[in-house]
Amino acid sequence: MQCKRLRTLAREWFLKVREDALAPARMMEFIHRHVRQCSICQADPDLPQEIEKIREFIRAPEVLPSVQEISEDIEEEKVLL
Ligand SMILES: [Zn+2]
Repeated sequence: MQCKRLRTLAREWFLKVREDALAPARMMEFIHRHVRQCSICQADPDLPQEIEKIREFIRAPEVLPSVQEISEDIEEEKVLL
């Protein structure tokens, strides 16, 4: 993971997942959302593998939350980001 920003964010999100304050699937959604807007992450060839490891570690389902679920949590996301 080359992106310091994502490393910091992932640690914060992971702590929330451990406290049951954030769903694992939501954490994966946040990660993907960051990658989509981050040139450092997009240029990191090892990142997809590392994201997959994180997913396995937090036991997130492979299926991303539905669009409706995401839009319902926009307020929560603003706080986190
Ligand atoms: Zn990044």
